[in-house]
Amino acid sequence: MKWFGYLAFALAIVGFSYFYELPNVCDKAISYTIGGIDSRFNLTKSQVLEHIQEAESYWEKASGKNLFVYNPSAEKAVLIQMLYDERQEISTQVNSEQIDVSQYKTSLQARVSDFNRRSDQLEQKVSAFNNKISEWNKNSSQSEEEYNKLVAEQAELEQQTKEINAEARTLQQSTNDVNVKIDKLNGNIATLQTVVKAKPEEGLYESASNTISIYYNNSRRELIHTIEHELGHSLGLNHLPNPLAIMYVQTNETLEPTIDDLRALNLICKKETVLDRVKSKKWQQTVTKRLNGIM
Ligand SMILES: [Zn+2]
Repeated sequence: MKWFGYLAFALAIVGFSYFYELPNVCDKAISYTIGGIDSRFNLTKSQVLEHIQEAESYWEKASGKNLFVYNPSAEKAVLIQMLYDERQEISTQVNSEQIDVSQYKTSLQARVSDFNRRSDQLEQKVSAFNNKISEWNKNSSQSEEEYNKLVAEQAELEQQTKEINAEARTLQQSTNDVNVKIDKLNGNIATLQTVVKAKPEEGLYESASNTISIYYNNSRRELIHTIEHELGHSLGLNHLPNPLAIMYVQTNETLEPTIDDLRALNLICKKETVLDRVKSKKWQQTVTKRLNGIM
């Protein structure tokens, strides 16, 4: 009966191993390090690290786990690098043009209101002068002194009218200039939209090289979102159809994971036993067999 004891023991081991919970990607923090940062991003290494730490905190708060750790000496650390592409170039150009146009418009508006004020004043002066002339014409005892004064006043008003007309022409030229700038800006915005549509992600996670590359940084919030999205890929998360999700294919400014993101994360972090794994494999095999039967 000794063999029966061994068999029971062996079955106990097999049984125990079936219920053994397998480690998954959420059990051990993924190490990362920071690679090259293109100087045109105007970000220091410590600023990039701050952004990454904020990005990882959203996943960690949601899962209650320490999922990522900055560890440059780790053997298989994910390399996070800041590259630069045409989107960044056009975006930087658009931002600088937007500032330029806005400043130009502000200064032009100030000049226009000053012009309007002076133009109104001149109109009042001309009207008062015309009244004086009417009075003068009605008056029979005109003195030469008064006449000379009126002539001088008329010359002065003519001079002021010339100046205000010259200013009007300058303002017209400046308005044309700002319109040219606005046209150029709109052209660049349209180009940016086309390029962003063609490359909707501002970053890329490559599992083969274990690298996250960030190509584009439109704002601090977008950069954090992009890092968060790519970190999600490094956990094994795929794209989600919800446009508000962190894992949506196009960059948005979401920072808090949506319910869809959390559901996907929970599936990855869910504890699985050997039995679960075997069952899912069997299920997969059954599905494959059925599919093969159909196709
Ligand atoms: Zn993606």
